[in-house]
Amino acid sequence: MSRITVLGIGVLGSQIAYHAAYKDFDVVAYDIDDAAVDRGRARLELLSEQYVHEVEGAGAGARKALGRVALTSDLADAVASADLVIEAAPEQLAIKRDLFARVGAMAPAHTVFATNTSTIPPSALMKSTGRPERFLALHFANLLWRHNIAEVMGTAETDPDVYTSVVRFASALGMVPVEIKKEKPGYLLNSLLIPLIKAAGELLTDEIADPSAVDDVWRIGTGASYGPFEMLDIIGLTTAHHIASHGDAKQREFARLIKERYLDKGNLGVATGEGFHVYPRTPLGT
Ligand code: NAD
Repeated sequence: MSRITVLGIGVLGSQIAYHAAYKDFDVVAYDIDDAAVDRGRARLELLSEQYVHEVEGAGAGARKALGRVALTSDLADAVASADLVIEAAPEQLAIKRDLFARVGAMAPAHTVFATNTSTIPPSALMKSTGRPERFLALHFANLLWRHNIAEVMGTAETDPDVYTSVVRFASALGMVPVEIKKEKPGYLLNSLLIPLIKAAGELLTDEIADPSAVDDVWRIGTGASYGPFEMLDIIGLTTAHHIASHGDAKQREFARLIKERYLDKGNLGVATGEGFHVYPRTPLGT
């Protein structure tokens, strides 16, 4: 696999596209119109600055990577010679199904299709491409150059050779490929993370402890790098609010607290420099 196409140049799509280019792959990044492509280009430029700051030895390579990403709003052009298409479009079933149906009709016979969805089971998307045996989920974590895992989750219909080729691609990106044997909502990471975050939300809404105490006990007590509220600040409080507002009564109480104390004041977490905690500013706000 050498030619990679990324669909959607938002938060995750820009990171996947930029990182693949940084690792010497030829990348095409697609978004729906010229304005979205321009926003994607700005994200890629910020990522290049971020790599110079953060990734040891990145220097000139970080700037060169920008030249290896071709940006387009023409879907047929975007997938014309793709070995691997990675979809990072909004988390809506209808959008992803429609996109894969169009891409499935346009891409070459050898193309492999991957979705970066966080919550939609890949089996709900696999038929859209018309080639379910060449379809699977490849799920990256936010800030992927730092949190370099890639969860690889096929469906009952994924060809084992396709699965293996995607595991190899993830390794070539410098990710630790995490192989998941059966379809599982939330993959491994979110299966572990969501219960922790729910428990943290309850400790706060029940007024048992402040975010800093909860984070201290988790970090110091387990040796983890971040506590649950620090994780929420990284994920972004808009997403945290969205997830909590779809939960049970306790979770909805947590969602209200996030809105009133943080979102309504424009504090969205690391991206704006403040959430449950206050952060120093760097090019991406991290
Ligand atoms: P985002 O909203 O930042 O980006 C989505 C991008 O898709 C935007 O640039 C948008 O213009 C574009 N888009 C809209 N309609 C499209 C279409 N029809 N075809 C192609 N592109 C289209 O979202 P995000 O946070 O980058 O999430 C993208 C995917 O990655 C989701 O499936 C999400 O679950 C997954 N994901 C997100 C995170 C995260 O932390 N943000 C982590 C892992 C996985």
